[in-house]
Amino acid sequence: MREDLVRAEILAMLGREPLNRSEIAARLGLGAATVTEHTRRLIDLGYLRELAPQVSGRGRPRVPLEVLPDAAYTLGLRVHHTHVVGVLMRLNGSEVRRFTQPFDPRAEPVEQLAKMCLEVLGEPGTGERVRGVGLAVPGVIDPAKGVVRLSPHLGWSDLALRPRLAELLPVPVLIDNDTRASTTAELLFGTGRDHDDFLVLAVGGGVGMGIVLGRRVHRGPDGVAGEFGHVPVDPLGPPCVCGRRGCVETYAADYALAARAVERGLTSRAVAVDELHALALADTPGIRDLMAEAGATLGRAAAGIVNVLAVRALTVIGESHVLWPYLEPGFRPAVEGGVLSGLEISVRPWDDSAHALGAACLVLAATVAAR
Ligand SMILES: [Zn+2]
Repeated sequence: MREDLVRAEILAMLGREPLNRSEIAARLGLGAATVTEHTRRLIDLGYLRELAPQVSGRGRPRVPLEVLPDAAYTLGLRVHHTHVVGVLMRLNGSEVRRFTQPFDPRAEPVEQLAKMCLEVLGEPGTGERVRGVGLAVPGVIDPAKGVVRLSPHLGWSDLALRPRLAELLPVPVLIDNDTRASTTAELLFGTGRDHDDFLVLAVGGGVGMGIVLGRRVHRGPDGVAGEFGHVPVDPLGPPCVCGRRGCVETYAADYALAARAVERGLTSRAVAVDELHALALADTPGIRDLMAEAGATLGRAAAGIVNVLAVRALTVIGESHVLWPYLEPGFRPAVEGGVLSGLEISVRPWDDSAHALGAACLVLAATVAAR
């Protein structure tokens, strides 16, 4: 994926407050000439402008730069097996608007997605500002080829989503795994403000991990890095959607927690996250123990990754974040007992538009700023 994260980072940083070039250079650890080159390009594109010079002391006057947030928009879609959430994002990361539409992944999905995008692209006053469309898709995604290798939740395998969608849309299209899309958003607007290296742990219908090393999202040679959900824990464990047994996901994904609850006779049927949450809140016997055990399994596996990569921060995201208070009593001691140095753990309140915003950030990084 062609990407110039530096320009996206500059836009994200200036989206919070105007800064001069030496402040940008200091915060991103870049040389003055590099920052001058990138900001010149962003000014040429009409995305930044210079404010009145500020004179302080005897030094040269400093020229603060500010973002023109409405100069270009990016559209991000989060593809879920029942619906699609769209977010239209400004250059400073703020939302123009968001929408939710029903979606059936089995009924001409490419055409359905194209129709949603074309509606936004056709809106007078906003459509012509949209520079690209990003899609955050659950499963194993090859972002370079734009192919969905395997998405059990959507029932897709080897779907050439990006090439097919690109034929129907007049703007560039990007796809990536949903967790990695959100990881890009974290890098630009969240954990990346304080850390150059960190992990994003996504818990929900699956378990995924976003990896940021040296301020870059790690994708691996074929773009499938971060398959944390399929870290093996027990060869005799429950069967996994990947065809193996005892993967992390088979203990900690929402469906796995629900299945364990049935096995232990705690519930009569597999329940959804909201119901699991209600049962834990009511302290239904056995539920909190089950979740703490799942949290411990997650924590031991995460500690291994933390030690290998020597990261100091981990951010938890995902639809199961409501269960985090019950996963955490197992997770935290397992991590703290397993890591060789300290780890800062933060938890993001989940919002259904999070992956959509992440997808819009992918476009910001790879298309808008790189032009
Ligand atoms: Zn697996």
